[in-house]
Amino acid sequence: MKKSLNVVWLKRDLRTDDHESFYHAEKLCDDYIVVYLFEPKQINYSDYSYRHQNFIFNSILEMNKNLSLFNRQVHIFHADADVFFNYLSEKYKVNSVFSYQESGIKNSWDRDQKIAKLFQLKSIKWKEFENQSVKRGLANRKGWDKLWFEYANSKITSNNFTKNDFNLDETPFDFNIEKFSFLKSYPTKFQPAGEEYALKYLDSFIQNRVKDYNKYISQPERSRYSCGRISTYLSWGNITARQIFQRVKKSQEYQMNKRNFDSFLTRLKWRSHFIQKFEVDCSYEKISINRGYEQMNYPNNNFLLDQWKKGQTGFPLVDACMRCLIDTGWLNFRMRAMLVSFLCHYLEQDWRRGVYHLAQLFLDYEPGIHYPQFQMQAGVTGINAIRVYNPVKQSKEKDVDGKFIKKWIPELSKINSAFIHEPWKLTDIDLIGISIPEIYRVPVISFKLSTTPVKKQLWELRKDDLVKKESKRLLRIHVRQKKIKK
Ligand SMILES: Cc1cc2nc3c(=O)[nH]c(=O)nc-3n(C[C@H](O)[C@H](O)[C@H](O)COP(=O)(O)OP(=O)(O)OC[C@H]3O[C@@H](n4cnc5c(N)ncnc54)[C@H](O)[C@@H]3O)c2cc1C
Repeated sequence: MKKSLNVVWLKRDLRTDDHESFYHAEKLCDDYIVVYLFEPKQINYSDYSYRHQNFIFNSILEMNKNLSLFNRQVHIFHADADVFFNYLSEKYKVNSVFSYQESGIKNSWDRDQKIAKLFQLKSIKWKEFENQSVKRGLANRKGWDKLWFEYANSKITSNNFTKNDFNLDETPFDFNIEKFSFLKSYPTKFQPAGEEYALKYLDSFIQNRVKDYNKYISQPERSRYSCGRISTYLSWGNITARQIFQRVKKSQEYQMNKRNFDSFLTRLKWRSHFIQKFEVDCSYEKISINRGYEQMNYPNNNFLLDQWKKGQTGFPLVDACMRCLIDTGWLNFRMRAMLVSFLCHYLEQDWRRGVYHLAQLFLDYEPGIHYPQFQMQAGVTGINAIRVYNPVKQSKEKDVDGKFIKKWIPELSKINSAFIHEPWKLTDIDLIGISIPEIYRVPVISFKLSTTPVKKQLWELRKDDLVKKESKRLLRIHVRQKKIKK
């Protein structure tokens, strides 16, 4: 007779605390295993990168330290979910699988549909838990804010583990680190992975870093310290929004820095707000949120795109941001927005040509935020203001002394700071004894940054009937009714 077991299937919920799947698996008092799947169909897709896998792997290593106290571990397998669960159900009597709902791209949605059919066929119960107040099958935003606050204030799940005495046999899909040699070391410039670090970052923010949260939020250098820096931990589920919300609210520091904390908590809610949009329609990965903007005609240009990807456009702040991102995996909101705006509005590239590049680079890549935000900054939603960030203006305002630029573009570190935002203004006499790369004397597009045909098209399409019709539809689905009336 086959041995019976249950499965906790981890995805973007790599923690051992405030975890519904563990809680319910323990409650059944039956044998269960914990699995994480490096699924070829997911990890080889355009949005994934080695850095994501590395963060995931290191989060699991930390979970395993905690779980080993109970003779448990997260078993890692290298297999697509349907192949793996099919195999597992041949070898064992799999009764229940516990996992969190994923508001991912169509790729993961299709996988989940396939798995649902397989589980039905094999009489496996699949209990999926709601992920941090993101609702499945929501028709509009009526009452959504209230539900979010209910979630944020609700009781944190307390996880207790029992000792395991079930041994899983070897499988053909056992993880072999030799096939993933990039996982053997974790780049020190990335935020360290795991739930212990999630709490360390949060606590250092609460106790210290929050003081300048609003003041420096858009500055590329100072925000690295003053922002929460909690996004990567949220994206891979090392911590939950309600753990953060309650820890902030209950802290002694909350009243002393209420304005800063409240701005931070508002953004925490935005997080779910954006993921909710994507949960409703994951086609936003590929199609303009406002279908009317599919009429856009972008010149596109491979050379310009490549220079943007490498951080070699000749615009110092743009290049510094891209190079910093390549090295560290993190940028503040404003600089992310500027990179997208520069790509779409000045380099005149279709947003789809850059969306996966940034997805791969963001260590905190979260599809539910990434695609709607990318489109918002590209100006193709029809329901948000079109914001065009002039990189020279941003540079002068947000990196006044050029510290950030000089750090990430050492080729410019020797020039007089007065020219750091516009090195093309350096004359031959200023450059005596110094050499700078030609790209900073003649950037890839005119440094005058005048209005481009793409910007004109974006504005003109605002008057288009389809765009207007689409905007109305989107307001009905994604925006609170009260807000629409105002
Ligand atoms: C083009 C673009 C793509 C983005 N892609 C991602 C992504 O893949 N993953 C991601 O987590 N964030 C993304 N963001 C949002 C934002 O830039 C990051 O959440 C933020 O910079 C993370 O830093 P932090 O944790 O210090 O944020 P804090 O300022 O400390 O904010 C606290 C938390 O609120 C949430 N948050 C903050 N700003 C936003 C926002 N504008 N929209 C939604 N949620 C927000 C994040 O979860 C963040 O951790 C993107 C923004 C843009 C413009």
